[in-house]
Amino acid sequence: MLARRTWPCLTAAIGLVALGPAAVPAQDAADRARRIHASLIGVDSHIDTLQRVLNGNEDISHRLSRGHVDLPRLKEAGMVAPFFALWVPTFYKGSEAVRRTLQLRDAMQMVFDAHPDQIELATTAADVERIAGAGKIAAVLTLEGGHQIADDLAVLRVYHRLGLRSMTLTHFRNNNWADASTDRPVHNGLTDFGRQVVREMNRLGMIVDISHVSDKTFYDTLAVTSKPVIASHSSCRALSDVPRNMTDDMIRALARNGGVIGINFGAGFVSAKDAGALRQRIGQAVATEPDLVGQALDEFARADYLKEYGEMKPAAATIDDAVAQVVHAVRIAGVDHVGIGSDWDGINMVPTGLEDVSKMPALTAKLLERGLSEEDVRKILGGNLLRVLRAVTGR
Ligand SMILES: [Zn+2]
Repeated sequence: MLARRTWPCLTAAIGLVALGPAAVPAQDAADRARRIHASLIGVDSHIDTLQRVLNGNEDISHRLSRGHVDLPRLKEAGMVAPFFALWVPTFYKGSEAVRRTLQLRDAMQMVFDAHPDQIELATTAADVERIAGAGKIAAVLTLEGGHQIADDLAVLRVYHRLGLRSMTLTHFRNNNWADASTDRPVHNGLTDFGRQVVREMNRLGMIVDISHVSDKTFYDTLAVTSKPVIASHSSCRALSDVPRNMTDDMIRALARNGGVIGINFGAGFVSAKDAGALRQRIGQAVATEPDLVGQALDEFARADYLKEYGEMKPAAATIDDAVAQVVHAVRIAGVDHVGIGSDWDGINMVPTGLEDVSKMPALTAKLLERGLSEEDVRKILGGNLLRVLRAVTGR
């Protein structure tokens, strides 16, 4: 199970990034970036936009002045295959977390039903290609937090039936079978049941997502999975030392597994200058434990989200920090193992120059300027994540 392919692209990638800054003139790069985005199947492995639909009652079928993402902006940017996270805060416990997951799935269905001309559920890579080919947004649905299965593999299997195709094993806090990166370890990684969850996800054809898990849980997961895994929205700890990011050793191990790290654009994720603010925000989120259930809990969650993410807070990071993250990940993992996991609408500090999904062509232009080829950039913007989706779902 641990036998791994080797990835010859790694050495090629090292040579390529070594070209360094200003390898391509800026105007040239901007024109090429525009061309790439006009014919792109861009895949983003993590957006939290569904929170705005459920909590803010927002109609994302229209171009909005609020938020980071809506369907028109996704389409314009060519980021046509976002992974919509059904994120449930860890203050939803047990069956309450299942109920909240179903609310989010229902909210997503209402978007599908109201706008069949604009968006459709995608459960395979073939679906993504077909739906994007028809000019629509291909929505891949994911779970954010293993607590959402309420310690029951039957719940996981029904989520798969509802079209869910990925799950982060934890969120900010440990659950009953896996340690999180932002909590005190109690399981020393994955428990035996946690290993069963990974195997069942492999069998069902769901992508195992190791963003949010502790370093030990990450290595335990790699030891048991038979399929490539992703870090849907994490960046490199070498550049911003927060536990939610990955060490270079973890990034290398993820590449050997055939997986992909989706670079998170949150200011604290990309830049050490904003890391303190991110640590503080996570600390506050972990401390929140209201003793509520049902509608009262939903009202609390709504107010909490709108307060936390309603408006952006000032950040020191710029788009160049995000570029540096992508380049570092390519240098460590190889160009076949890096993707985009923006965390749009789930971050409250964004880099200057990368304020929402419409700014993606500017990021691409800077990657071209740094000497990455068009082919490499297309892999990073979607090709790599599409490969993992195909490998895991079988189509
Ligand atoms: Zn997250």
